[in-house]
Amino acid sequence: MKEGYNFQKIEEKWQKTWEKNALFECEENPRKKKYYCLEMYPYPSGKIHMGQIRNYTIGDVIARYKRMKGLNVLHPIGWDAFGMPAENAAIKKGIHPQKWTLENISHMKSQLKRLGFSYDWSREVNTCLPEYYKWNQWIFLKLLENGLAYKKNDLVNWCPQCKTVLANEQVIGDKCWRCDSIVEQKEMEQWFLKITDYAEELLSGHKSLEKWSDNVLTMQKNWIGKSTGAHISFPILGSSKSVEIFTTRIDTIFGATFLVLSPEHPLSKELSSHSGQKDKLNDWIERNIRDHNSRKEPGEEEKEGVDTGKKAINPFTGEEIPIWIANYVLMDYGTGAIMAVPAHDQRDFEFARKYSLPIKEVIIPQGASPAIQMDRAFEDHGILINSGPFSGKNFDEAEETMVEYTIDKKFGRRSTLYRLRDWGVSRQRYWGTPIPVIYCDKCGIVGVPYEDLPVTLPVDVEFKREEGSPLKKSEAFVKTICPKCNREARRETDTMDTFFDSSWYFFRYCSPVEGNLPFDKKAAKYWLPVDLYIGGVEHAILHLIYARFFCKFLRDFGLTNVDEPFPHLLSQGMVIKDGVKMSKSKGNVVDPDEIVKKYGADTLRLFILFAAPPEKEFIWDEKGIEGCFRFLSRMWTFFQENRAILCDKSLKAEQKAINRNDLTRVQEKMHQTIRKVSEDIQRRYHLNTAISSLMEFFNLIKSERGVIIQSSEGKTLLKNAFENLILLLSPFAPHICEEIWERIGKKSLIVCSEWPSFDPELAKEEMVTIVVQINGKLRDRLEVERDLPECVINKMVMELTRIKKTVRAKEVKKIIYIDNRLVNIVI
Ligand SMILES: [Zn+2]
Ligand SMILES: [Zn+2]
Repeated sequence: MKEGYNFQKIEEKWQKTWEKNALFECEENPRKKKYYCLEMYPYPSGKIHMGQIRNYTIGDVIARYKRMKGLNVLHPIGWDAFGMPAENAAIKKGIHPQKWTLENISHMKSQLKRLGFSYDWSREVNTCLPEYYKWNQWIFLKLLENGLAYKKNDLVNWCPQCKTVLANEQVIGDKCWRCDSIVEQKEMEQWFLKITDYAEELLSGHKSLEKWSDNVLTMQKNWIGKSTGAHISFPILGSSKSVEIFTTRIDTIFGATFLVLSPEHPLSKELSSHSGQKDKLNDWIERNIRDHNSRKEPGEEEKEGVDTGKKAINPFTGEEIPIWIANYVLMDYGTGAIMAVPAHDQRDFEFARKYSLPIKEVIIPQGASPAIQMDRAFEDHGILINSGPFSGKNFDEAEETMVEYTIDKKFGRRSTLYRLRDWGVSRQRYWGTPIPVIYCDKCGIVGVPYEDLPVTLPVDVEFKREEGSPLKKSEAFVKTICPKCNREARRETDTMDTFFDSSWYFFRYCSPVEGNLPFDKKAAKYWLPVDLYIGGVEHAILHLIYARFFCKFLRDFGLTNVDEPFPHLLSQGMVIKDGVKMSKSKGNVVDPDEIVKKYGADTLRLFILFAAPPEKEFIWDEKGIEGCFRFLSRMWTFFQENRAILCDKSLKAEQKAINRNDLTRVQEKMHQTIRKVSEDIQRRYHLNTAISSLMEFFNLIKSERGVIIQSSEGKTLLKNAFENLILLLSPFAPHICEEIWERIGKKSLIVCSEWPSFDPELAKEEMVTIVVQINGKLRDRLEVERDLPECVINKMVMELTRIKKTVRAKEVKKIIYIDNRLVNIVI
């Protein structure tokens, strides 16, 4: 009697079995090679969304594959549980943030379990619980002790909607990353982490991150923004003071025809107050400081400025040059003052044109003659002219000798600047880790003693939408005793940026109940670094820079020996529906629970991997789900119809080559498929092509069945082929494979089985056809031997285009090669 594909019954059965047998729990085993597979942990917003399911399914396939390959796999999950939405829910609905968060976690946990992800739930971390955030506080105190956490009064980014300070990384354009409000500048006392101490290492560490996408590396590089150059002092005429500037182009200094200060520069007001138009200038400065928050990236705004009437001396030429104040110079980069070289900087050029300031050409392209009239700045390197003894030199020679000259004459020095700022971590909100600091009138800032940790969040707090932290109003929390002098003192009421929590959670997974340190050093030594980290590209600069920073200072504190926590990053593409990102605000969300109910977890998992490779956008299409469901149903039916053969224990498979024409095709396809699926998972994470080759293989088994079951040799082959198909499919659709595996009569679970191996001779595919594209348009096809190295194929393709005269070599910008299938020439 045939039995239908009852996915719900099957899936729930195996989820229970896996859990009961603790199959995904792992422990350190020095004799076994480890594999740490990590996905970015979720914020407990209430429901798991498709983007997360995609993220976790990719990770789950890799984790299951590595287990079957015999590795000791750590595959954990937890909750990034602090943050604004919980507090907003408290304000709106009167639910305590903790209750809201824990309820969401409990629901989302059941969703994850229903999808059959192979997590080690015994290692679950939850950042809003004192047993986790105690260690945030511990780490903060260590930072304080080591001078890496400090407090200062500074202009900070203030979101009027979230009523809290934002880190620079959390301001996108000039808006709040969370709520899109225009961010204001506000002067406040804030806690900062000295991430700038690690700027150089965060940059140079990129060299070891070969397996990160260029895109993410470039974003980080720009964020760190290193520039090398010199600091040079321009004496102010008639004053003992001077204006210090930073330049990366000392070779242009003979063309510096004026200086420009930022409105916030301390000298701006001072110099203006000596001017005849003191009030007018001061008004202008005040207005521009106020407007600071609406200033866009330098270069975008209308350049505006005022002349202070004061002059400085160009130390190279001895010329007197005017000192201006202008809105296009930013206080938070360099010294807040620049030397303006209008001939060789476009912004200075436009400013000089507007205010009729002199333009002096000092650099010309090699072999060119000076311009009679410049219509824009020449910004490239070139040969120096009109530069006294330095004329005739190129950039490198000039740079070297001119900086030497400033050092000799004691008005300059070689220097390096970074755009990266220290990380402001204070938040004026309730739902975060309390910063473990006490203020005493006598002793000043005192760290909470380690033995008094954790400083826990008080429960009896009122939530109202008004300025300031609700913690400020909790007497019981604020009032305390100074641990140094025993007098009355006050607690810090700011809490930590939640990015603090997520900067080290992957260490905690290694020893989630460790009670003496944030994590057990030995466990971390075994598991770290993370072998594969999977997550969205939107975390390129926030989370991924902070986590690298944490790893580096934890190393310097002696807690880990790892320099880089994530040597291999897989950035996954977005989930798209109806042409836009699937999101609540767009109203195009598909509820995963509905899909699981209708088709089952295996179908959803298969579908979410099948439609696109992980790095690419995934376009949601209901028809695709039905296709995946049909595939699994057909496999189920095939098993039912061939039970007698597939369950026959007397048929023992052998790996040796079969010498019968009707059988070799199936046998070769089997070995080729094992090889293809293994390589797709292991090398490129092309899980979509792995799935399509499994579908192809199944179709072949199905169509050849009638022919091959004529002989007992053929029956054995059929059984062997089908068993391998089930093994290969099991990381993708684990429940149905587990069920069939059991019904075939296998004694052990499929999750504990070995990944099949292939015979390289039999797996050899003679020729493949590679599609040749030019700018994405099909131009040609190329028959080549399978698995030639990429460089050989690229050469053959270029040879072909040369013969056919389709492309000239020097037009080629890039050649993109995809997996024995396609070469795209970008011109
Ligand atoms: Zn906001
Ligand atoms: Zn004291």
